Amino acid sequence: MSKANLESLLNKRAVLLDGGMGTEFQSRGVPAGTHPDLLNLTDPAIVKAVIKSYVDAGSDVVLTNTFGSTRFVLEKHGEADKLAEINFRAAQIAREVADETTDHEVFVFGDLGPTGVMLVLGDVPESAIYDAYYEQIAALKEGGVDGVAVETSSDPQEAAQAVKAAKDQGLFVAVTATFDSGKNKDRTMMGATPEKFIEVVEAAGADAVGSNCGRGIEGFPPLCQRMRAVTQLPLWMKSNAGLPQTVDGVTTYAQTPQDFAEKAIKLIDEGAKFIGGCCGTNPDFIRELRKLIG
Ligand SMILES: [Zn+2]
Repeated sequence: MSKANLESLLNKRAVLLDGGMGTEFQSRGVPAGTHPDLLNLTDPAIVKAVIKSYVDAGSDVVLTNTFGSTRFVLEKHGEADKLAEINFRAAQIAREVADETTDHEVFVFGDLGPTGVMLVLGDVPESAIYDAYYEQIAALKEGGVDGVAVETSSDPQEAAQAVKAAKDQGLFVAVTATFDSGKNKDRTMMGATPEKFIEVVEAAGADAVGSNCGRGIEGFPPLCQRMRAVTQLPLWMKSNAGLPQTVDGVTTYAQTPQDFAEKAIKLIDEGAKFIGGCCGTNPDFIRELRKLIG
């Protein structure tokens, strides 16, 4: 892509993101407990099929299957030696889907999740977090990503390191936090408010900010309003399909694609410029949103 292409699309209409990835693997028979990022190497066809299903549903932006592919996370799975290969291959898989799409332009964003390291405990310096994100982003960039999305953030200082590592490699970076904690369920697990989160990541250089996952689409209009009040950056919003329920050992989400899309589309009026879905949403949700975006 070029950054200009993404900006010209943003000037025309809201940009459609993708939906859940981990939950899509499970619905296609991948056992829960498998580290999904390893599928980039062991079963690239399933990764490609999920990404393609979102592009076919109309997504303008798709994410790579690399939410848990920093060195810190891969070390826990004993797979850190495959870090460069996993991230490079994941970017290539998504790039292939984008390049094979002829009916609309598709942008590939490298997906970055939390490291699992608690900066506040002082176990590692901030520079170690920066280095871990830098290393992951370098491999994603080599594989052909157009930008990166830092998701499910809880600690703004950690997210800021990912933002800096992306900007230092010249990439567009969106960063979203999950607000599902505190008395009013409007704080991250680490206690950050939307206002505090944006202050820190915007200062670090974020190009878009927002929220992903959380407690369902109903919680998103007030998040948009609060963020809109403190930043001019484009808002990036990916709600989950409500809270998961376990029925007979199977995780399900009660929300329908139509209901989700009708509520999600209203976020555009609240200032969202990028919209999509998180856990429990599937290509049907994105297809409904595509119809409404027009
Ligand atoms: Zn999610």
